[in-house]
Amino acid sequence: MGLLSLGTPLDWEQAKHFAEHVRSHGITQFLNTWDRLKGRFGDELLWGDEIEYMIVQLDPDAKDAVLSLCQTDILAKLQSPTSGVDAMIGADVVPPVFHPEYGRYMLESTPGAPYTGSVRDLVLVEFNMRLRRQLARSKLKPNQIPMTLTSFPRLGVPGRFTVPHYDPAGAISSHSLFLPEQITNPHARFPTLTANIRRRRGSKVAVNLPIYIDRRTPRPFVDPTIPWHRDLFPEDAEARHGAALNDHIYMDAMGFGMGCCCLQLTFQCCNIEDARWMYDALIPIGPIMLALTAASPLWRGYIADVDCRWNVIAGSVDDRTEEERGLKPLKENRMQIPKSRYDSVDLYISETWMNRPEYNDNPLPIDQELYDRMREYGIDELLSKHIAHLFIRDPIVIFSELLEQDDSKSMDHFENIQSTNWQTLRFKPPPPNSPIGWRVEFRSMEVQMTDFENAAFAVFIVLLSRAIMSMNINLYIPISKVDQNMHRAQQRDAVNQARFYFRREVFTPTPSRAASGATTPEIAVPRSCSDASSTNGTANGFHNDQNNGRRKQRVMENCFPPPPLPEEGLTSGSVKEEYAEYTMDEIINGRGDAFPGLIGLVETYIGTLDLSDSELRKIASYLDLVRRRANGSLKTAATWIRDFVRSHPSYEFDSAVSKEINYDLVVAVDEIERGVRRAPDLLPEDYIGSEKDPSCSSCD
Ligand code: ADP
Ligand code: MG
Ligand code: MG
Ligand code: MG
Ligand code: MG
Ligand code: MG
Repeated sequence: MGLLSLGTPLDWEQAKHFAEHVRSHGITQFLNTWDRLKGRFGDELLWGDEIEYMIVQLDPDAKDAVLSLCQTDILAKLQSPTSGVDAMIGADVVPPVFHPEYGRYMLESTPGAPYTGSVRDLVLVEFNMRLRRQLARSKLKPNQIPMTLTSFPRLGVPGRFTVPHYDPAGAISSHSLFLPEQITNPHARFPTLTANIRRRRGSKVAVNLPIYIDRRTPRPFVDPTIPWHRDLFPEDAEARHGAALNDHIYMDAMGFGMGCCCLQLTFQCCNIEDARWMYDALIPIGPIMLALTAASPLWRGYIADVDCRWNVIAGSVDDRTEEERGLKPLKENRMQIPKSRYDSVDLYISETWMNRPEYNDNPLPIDQELYDRMREYGIDELLSKHIAHLFIRDPIVIFSELLEQDDSKSMDHFENIQSTNWQTLRFKPPPPNSPIGWRVEFRSMEVQMTDFENAAFAVFIVLLSRAIMSMNINLYIPISKVDQNMHRAQQRDAVNQARFYFRREVFTPTPSRAASGATTPEIAVPRSCSDASSTNGTANGFHNDQNNGRRKQRVMENCFPPPPLPEEGLTSGSVKEEYAEYTMDEIINGRGDAFPGLIGLVETYIGTLDLSDSELRKIASYLDLVRRRANGSLKTAATWIRDFVRSHPSYEFDSAVSKEINYDLVVAVDEIERGVRRAPDLLPEDYIGSEKDPSCSSCD
């Protein structure tokens, strides 16, 4: 979540009168940043992950696993290092940072300093993640565990699912039938977000996930755990009046979505052009990685027929009114809006020739006035549209003390809108008064149960991004097809069952190759990697500079040269011919000579780096995990979890996840993470758990 400001939050009736004010000043702030920093260049590759945890408390006697609402305590302990584990943070490791999150049972951690383009950092990612998990664990009671589960299987069941236990009757912000007020971080921002989304929308949010129909699931499935006849809040009637669908798992509060954990990555780019190109390049990768990292098949005590969190979060913060959703004619509102503020990206924004206008084929409501202002100011069409599309949203949380700001110094109003547009990618302008450059955040992945997996996916994406940009790989397909992929990615076992739209020919023909009549793709040697080991290393790739990667000079050559224009005619064929449907295996592992797969691209890029044997082995083990998840020889977390529940001796094949099954599942996941239980269908044979990790010997 964004910065936690202190102050008096306005409720929706008050806040809505300041929406124009926030938007208008937000754009002024963006224009000021643009003025100062549009020409900024030469920033090196800096990057980092965010990992979110749930604190789970075990009660072995009762065979119960519940969420511990201990965020405030544990954050305080993590901020005042004392214990033995803190000694692990030696001279060369900057202490990690822990952040609050939406759920009062959640934590987020990031590395204390971003990783660099030094190849050495590629093998430090996993160490850093493990260190963070150990640190969190060391501050908890022996029966509490920081777990990287994407969704908690029994969040919102009747009875006790948190400690301490609270009654949902007191949920004054969400009015939920299932989640108590105390599930939410007490900082004013979070209850206000929750309440104002409900008030703006005019009803509670409503998420219906199809339930997984098992052999003995009652049909139709009418959920007996919904308090259908409660009459406490006016919205209690919504469930019985159609908001809760049969054969679905119904969820009615922001906490069901924002209470999920994920794995996000942020990359600094050399200049704004690189950032826009990288943003675009990763858009089609978003749904592919969502499917590969699928980890959330269990919701509110049931097995769902989907594997991912995405649609739950989208629905859980959907503040659109009935008019905006197209259910009523427009009267109070400005426009219809096709998507929730948490959803997939709607616009490619790069100005490279590869980005053909035909690819931007999604409906794109914009704030016309703000668009015109940006255009008049000299900002190009695509970037103006991007911002004007984000700015169709109202600010949800406004602190009265922060209404008046110095727009030449602050980005608060801009960030208010920007940070509540939760999309698959985020284009992050440099913050004011900081050395940070233009960045891109990759946000679609589900968190994995072990840090070996989290590191594998993080390293895969950073290498893939370097491969794409150094080899001019073109992954553009119409953005409406990316949206279809988002839907397919969440289906049960999408990795093995679904096909995904993907570009047929990803290699851009270079002018010389086209002129010589070459027809077979030839992998361009990654540009600039030949001298990648020079201290100034060019083109924002990886290099062997061990001096923490920090470059003394900021030069234009650090940026990826824009892809050279192809011969005329090569950019005008039919877009429909450019893509086809492929399996996950084909996309990741390739299809014969036609395409080396995303792994093939990464391997070509790695071939240009000067890696030691141990670095190579480590990275190979990461690529192998990605490869095997894609070809089905290892299960996704979602499939593994679903199979665990369905093979539990007490499972009744009725789609229900009992207290006991949940307890055994949580214990199993923890034992797998520590390496004391093997899971050869989920992880490679030689997986080393955190308890036996030699690099972490001082952890206890
Ligand atoms: P947010 O919650 O706003 O997405 P966080 O601050 O939680 O962002 O995480 C940002 C990530 O970006 C962290 O992993 C951090 O290490 C990394 N990071 C920090 N500085 C930079 C930078 N200059 N460029 C790229 N990444 C950075
Ligand atoms: Mg977070
Ligand atoms: Mg964060
Ligand atoms: Mg943050
Ligand atoms: Mg979150
Ligand atoms: Mg983030």
